[in-house]
Amino acid sequence: MEKQGNIRISSENMMPIIKKWLYSEKDIFLREIVANASDAITKHQKLTSLGEAEKEDGEYFITVTTDDKQKTLTVEDNGIGMTAEEVEKYITQIAFSGAADFVSKYEKANGDGIIGHFGLGFYSAYMVSDSIEIYTKSYQDGAQAVRWESDGNSTYTISDCDKTTRGTKIVMHLSEGEEEFLRENVVQGLIQKYCSFMPYNIYLNKTEESSPLNTPTPLYTKDPKECTEEEYKSFYRETFSDYNEPLFWVHLNMEYPFRLKGILYFPKVRKQVELERGQVKLYCNQVFIADNIKEVIPEFLMLLNGVIDCPDIPLNVSRSFLQNDKQVQKIAKHITKKVADKLGELYRNDKEKYENCWNDIATFVKFGCIKDDDFYSRVKDIIIYKNISGEYRSVTSYFGEEVTAEEAKEGKQPQAVYYVSDENKQAQYVQMFRDAALDAIVCDTYIDPHFISYLEYKNPTRVRFMRIDSDVDGALKELGGEDAQIEEIFKSVLSEQSLKIKTEKLKNANVPAVVNVSEFMRRMSEMNSFYQMGEGPTDMTLVVNTANSAVQALKDASSEKKEQAVKQIYYLALLAYRPLTPEELTDFVGKNVTLLESFLKI
Ligand code: ADP
Repeated sequence: MEKQGNIRISSENMMPIIKKWLYSEKDIFLREIVANASDAITKHQKLTSLGEAEKEDGEYFITVTTDDKQKTLTVEDNGIGMTAEEVEKYITQIAFSGAADFVSKYEKANGDGIIGHFGLGFYSAYMVSDSIEIYTKSYQDGAQAVRWESDGNSTYTISDCDKTTRGTKIVMHLSEGEEEFLRENVVQGLIQKYCSFMPYNIYLNKTEESSPLNTPTPLYTKDPKECTEEEYKSFYRETFSDYNEPLFWVHLNMEYPFRLKGILYFPKVRKQVELERGQVKLYCNQVFIADNIKEVIPEFLMLLNGVIDCPDIPLNVSRSFLQNDKQVQKIAKHITKKVADKLGELYRNDKEKYENCWNDIATFVKFGCIKDDDFYSRVKDIIIYKNISGEYRSVTSYFGEEVTAEEAKEGKQPQAVYYVSDENKQAQYVQMFRDAALDAIVCDTYIDPHFISYLEYKNPTRVRFMRIDSDVDGALKELGGEDAQIEEIFKSVLSEQSLKIKTEKLKNANVPAVVNVSEFMRRMSEMNSFYQMGEGPTDMTLVVNTANSAVQALKDASSEKKEQAVKQIYYLALLAYRPLTPEELTDFVGKNVTLLESFLKI
């Protein structure tokens, strides 16, 4: 038998379009061809289990073979195979109209893209081939093997051939310029990228000694109850080439109402300064689709490393469609819930481990809360902060009772929670807080300023955060310490500074004066400098401590000594708040030398 025919769709103009769109990802053709081979094997397996086909005695396999001389790349399987009618139907009609369908979807997607260019299928091989031959023999008893060939444009030929074994062999005659697909290392890289977890052994240029390039039953497909800790760790190492051990992981495994399998790992963070991108690989029935698909996986989860296999996600639709797809939203919600559950479980069952890991996961958790309200409501009570005594406590445990509208009218404020943003720079304040047995939490990662604003926004009547140096006269004062005479002494000496001066009796008598900048003004100026609008006014107050004996002694000092001492006190307070400017430093050093001289009576 030999027959020629016309491919009934206008494929001539399809190829340039596809080539242009998929230019940078044309290597997906190999995934499509190998995935077809894998499907064909699955179909055969299914038939044998139904008793409709004879069992495979040997091994199910897929081989990929490069041939330098012939300039061909060949993919062969021992799957179900095709009869001549099936080739006509599935290849000449379905594959080609499938490609046409893909093109029209792509056009509708309006440049928006289809994730992982999923669904182009067999036809994609023409991106790299001048012509393709198919040799195939159906599983059916006495089936005649057939050979099909086409250049992918408008005609094809089909004839009998003498293939003796069941299955399909696809021979791609590579176009000029596509010789890279003859290189073993290139093809190996592609198989590893796209086909690592495909369910049947895949060999490249198979010889007697060859071992498969893939892992047909990756750990995530197994029942979590049957996986050991060591297996989780080695799966992590192999999949992400990260030799740091993961902290812990979440194994996703559900069938209903959608199928979802996968493992998400919490990696150790190496540096605090930036959000480290993780890698979440998306699979569909063990076929790799793409990394970090934000339309499917909540953005904050991309800080994790993981593998997600979800055959129920409609992947051959545009990205913007996916974003609004109810099913996808449900899947994303489920993943979020599982991650939150895992954190909760660890918090309850192994607090010590949780605290030890906290530094590594805090950014993830906080970022997740800011990005996803649902996640926030699940984890809010297990967000912990270290306090200035070095103990971890849940942040919500610091929140106060709700302040009612009535109470707010009377001037009642939400509970103040004090925080330290830099334990070294704010050391004097920390010491004063400790001495006064006051608590403050340490908020020293770069996400904390955003996160505490977020907590305030979510709990406006229960909490306000105040940096430890923003409420000295509220937190540290005792009643009745004002002293008009001292206030006047400071005002007259420091009249040139843009500074408010206030006297209070503070709980700690050792410190003569403390700088205080209100939380609101400091946040404003931080925001200004963030947006590069200059620092703006800082509204600094010098709180002079009337409990301090040096301050009291000023009353009886000579005017020259008053001036010297007030400036000295001012600089000391300033130093505990921020670094001195060059001018201030010169002045301060000069004054100290004078003091030393008089102390040593030179
Ligand atoms: P899809 O796989 O999405 O259906 P393709 O264009 O990739 O679309 O393939 C069209 C059809 O050709 C497949 O559905 C299948 O019936 C048949 N086919 C392709 N490759 C093989 C193969 N290796 N063995 C058996 N049948 C195949």
